[in-house]
Amino acid sequence: MIFNIITIFPEIFNSYFNESIIKRALEKEKIKINIINLRDFAVDKHKTVDDTPYGGGAGMLMKVDVLYKAVNQIKSEIRNSHFAKATRGKQESKIILLSAKGDKWNQQKAKKYSKLDNITLICGRYEGVDERIVNFIDGEISIGDYVLTGGEIGAMAIIDSITRLLPGVLGNETSAKDESHSVSGELEYPQYTRPEIFIDNEGNKYKVPDVLLSGNHKKIEEWRKNKKITQL
Ligand code: SAM
Repeated sequence: MIFNIITIFPEIFNSYFNESIIKRALEKEKIKINIINLRDFAVDKHKTVDDTPYGGGAGMLMKVDVLYKAVNQIKSEIRNSHFAKATRGKQESKIILLSAKGDKWNQQKAKKYSKLDNITLICGRYEGVDERIVNFIDGEISIGDYVLTGGEIGAMAIIDSITRLLPGVLGNETSAKDESHSVSGELEYPQYTRPEIFIDNEGNKYKVPDVLLSGNHKKIEEWRKNKKITQL
């Protein structure tokens, strides 16, 4: 799986992608992440990527001509890649704009996207992006009903949630299966670890449910099944 990220803040991603599961997925070549600096596609000497909105209004918008150049380069790289040749151009790819008004991201979408070969994520900034970009992409995705300063956190959330689902990425193949939302509307049962009894500063005791200490696997499974929350 190849991820391309178009951003004006390429450094934001370094620390997150250099830790834990994503780091291992990169090392094991389960994923590849290309971070593309949008400023490299600017046409003027000031490397301008934004401009004022027609009709007035607060803030700046990302320019469609600069984004178009970046998107086109990625499209041509996908077409000309060794992989595309090996699959006779049957690579499945999507180009997505992160947007507060996009389709809501969820685990079911993550599963669907985990079957693709190549995903490009465009991170908006400022007041957003010139609307004409929609003519050159496959869709817009929101990671929730709130407004972020930029699309970078959304890109990380999407890449992380997809990567966990790729075969061989999680140590234990079943751990992705039992997680919240793996079945739509189902949330994971409560989990506990040592100490068996936790005492807070006021002397209140918080005990691990007896059944989990019983060693009776059938009963534990039943308890977990009952404790799973099913959303309507
Ligand atoms: N003016 C825009 C609006 O009202 O929808 C918000 C722009 S926001 C400050 C800048 C960028 O952050 C957006 O272009 C988008 O890429 C990203 N962004 C903000 N909220 C987001 C969300 N909920 N999901 C995904 N991306 C988001």
